[in-house]
Amino acid sequence: MTAFNRDFRTIKNLAELEVAGLVNSNERERLAGVVENFNTRITPHVQNLIETADVRDPIFAQYVPSELELLATPGELADPIGDDIHEKVEGITHRYPDRVLLKATHTCQVYCRFCFRREKVGHADEALDADELAAAISYIRDTPEIWEVILSGGDPLVLSDRRLALIMAELSDIPHVQVIRIHTRAPVADPARVSVDLISALNVRPAVYVVVHVNHPKEISEDVKLGFSKLVDAGIPVLSQSVLLKGVNNNAETLSALMKLLVSLRVKPYYLHHLDKAKGTEHFRCSIAEGQQLMQALRGQVSGLCLPTYMLDIPEGFGKVPIGPTYLQGGETQYRVLDIHGDLHDYVDSAG
Ligand SMILES: *Cc1c(COP(=O)(O)O)cnc(C)c1O
Ligand code: SF4
Repeated sequence: MTAFNRDFRTIKNLAELEVAGLVNSNERERLAGVVENFNTRITPHVQNLIETADVRDPIFAQYVPSELELLATPGELADPIGDDIHEKVEGITHRYPDRVLLKATHTCQVYCRFCFRREKVGHADEALDADELAAAISYIRDTPEIWEVILSGGDPLVLSDRRLALIMAELSDIPHVQVIRIHTRAPVADPARVSVDLISALNVRPAVYVVVHVNHPKEISEDVKLGFSKLVDAGIPVLSQSVLLKGVNNNAETLSALMKLLVSLRVKPYYLHHLDKAKGTEHFRCSIAEGQQLMQALRGQVSGLCLPTYMLDIPEGFGKVPIGPTYLQGGETQYRVLDIHGDLHDYVDSAG
């Protein structure tokens, strides 16, 4: 099967999807409404990883628009995790006392079809202008409780190395900022982005952590591996976050292969996110019960290093909490504890 045009370029619209062989002409009309509402962007690197133009392909499913995105499901929200409620100044979301999100851009190298900020990413107001950025930095400078700044977006690695270095320098000048965390899909969407200049932009006084968004082992090509090792070799701890996605990674084999591959590449799985209720994403949704079962299966199968925490971001701005399986029943002093084979054991809590 190779109807693909192998002359890969970044795909940004329906016509380009069609030229690339990812959408056929009779789908064009049905998808017009989708691409109007939610942006499309697929890098050459990602395109090259698609094996078949079919939703069963885990890369295809994550990036190629589907008419299922037009389905409106009750409970889906334009701002599913309540970012706007906690926006203090343009570009700053301050929900937890000690850390803020700094969203310097609303664009990404790729647009995921299940994105929790899909009504924000890739639209007007693409990046903070100089004044807005200065105001955001001032807010951080004037708020001594802020210990960690999380660069998010959009994807902060869309910014040029020069702009990124500028932001890093400004943050480094604020003594109470001890940690800068970068949430990005770039090392997976466009591994060439992990350049020498990027690494040097990240070489600043606060501790810098990179958290990579990756959902399937097939996303981790040789180039991606090289990018991870460049970051880790430069002394930057790399963690991962994944989204539990129906039809992409909702089985124990895929998740365990993903987490083991990451750990073998020195990337520590951090969070497995339950899918946020963004509009038109129901076809990607697993139940929480299924997510818990998968986590329980992993617990029995893989090294503790390979286990992310299964998280739910409570709609409307109440924050993230772990929702993994519980292994403890009862309470007070008398517990029953579940082992990895599903057997219960008595445990007497003798303390207190
Ligand atoms: C997810 C998120 C964070 C980071 O949460 P951690 O649990 O520390 O990873 C911080 N602020 C906001 C607004 C968030 O949505
Ligand atoms: S990379 Fe992240 S912010 Fe960008 S579209 Fe994908 S999920 Fe959304």
